[in-house]
Amino acid sequence: MSKWEVIHMKIAGTPIFSFTFIFISFISINCDKNNRMSDNFSTELKDTTVVQIHGLLQQNGNKILDKNNEPICFAGNSFFWSNDDWGGERYYKAEVVSWLKNDWKTTIVRAAMGVEDPGGYLDNKTANKDRVTTIVDAAIDEGIYVIIDWHSHHAEDNTNEAALFFQEMANLYGEYDNVIYEIYNEPLDISWSNTIKPYAISIIATIRSIDPDNLIIVGTPEWSQRVDLAAADPITGYSNIAYTLHFYTVHHQQWLRDRASEALNDGIPIFITEWGSIGYSLIDPEADKWMAWCFENKISHCNWAVNDKNEEWSILVPGASTSGNWSEDDLTKAGKLAKNIIVNWPK
Ligand code: MG
Repeated sequence: MSKWEVIHMKIAGTPIFSFTFIFISFISINCDKNNRMSDNFSTELKDTTVVQIHGLLQQNGNKILDKNNEPICFAGNSFFWSNDDWGGERYYKAEVVSWLKNDWKTTIVRAAMGVEDPGGYLDNKTANKDRVTTIVDAAIDEGIYVIIDWHSHHAEDNTNEAALFFQEMANLYGEYDNVIYEIYNEPLDISWSNTIKPYAISIIATIRSIDPDNLIIVGTPEWSQRVDLAAADPITGYSNIAYTLHFYTVHHQQWLRDRASEALNDGIPIFITEWGSIGYSLIDPEADKWMAWCFENKISHCNWAVNDKNEEWSILVPGASTSGNWSEDDLTKAGKLAKNIIVNWPK
């Protein structure tokens, strides 16, 4: 039985803090039993990056596989909107990516490029694109995965701009196994089949004309919660496509997990590019249930958000350094909860 299978078996139905203990206990037992295995494991983690180990991600049925054809899921952080003067843009630095990778053991980050709103890409292309490329370049240097997110609620209104942007990104980064394209963050309550899907196919065609193989993630209606609608009418004719699910535990609970489980059963792969805990608390039983569900179904997730804004989902207290090197006192309760999950997620 593999390490993954043992953890998988034990995590089912257990909260994340128990999961943390089980994982640490399992490693300890292995260390005691087999020092050579332990040494190899440590050496692997120290000398080899997660992208070197897992390579290009490939969708197969409702799973994301690594280069060895093993189902795989990652835990990491989403940056905040990149818009000028919204606050979160101050954290778009290589030092922050490096800190998250080394201190939080993050294996995936998401650059959330604001599009339509004031200070977004349509207002100031150079600054917003520079923020995105800073994060992508840093993630490549650190050997972790990175999502290039068109952080929009109205992407179908600017299809040409999206196409030009992703054309440029595919030319810059299509050769890197690290890179994942997210072409529509959160559509509103609009038609999947008549609006979002045609937009997605147009952008996917643009990317695929340059980059034939990197994973592309497509948002779903109602703030990326209607994965059932995508499952009923999935995109065909292109490979390596996944669909976005977002959850915030205050609002989204068992009913959304049930909907997502049905979508998985219908055969589509799901990628959680954003999630938020209850906020202002270290205890969140719904976050525990979601993490057990993600682990059981091998679904990756990025925590919202790397920012010090005074709101429930910020990982940092106001005024925390914009260059990483954070102490525990610099983290909010939501930040500590997220860090505990990400640090302990099996690598
Ligand atoms: Mg490629």
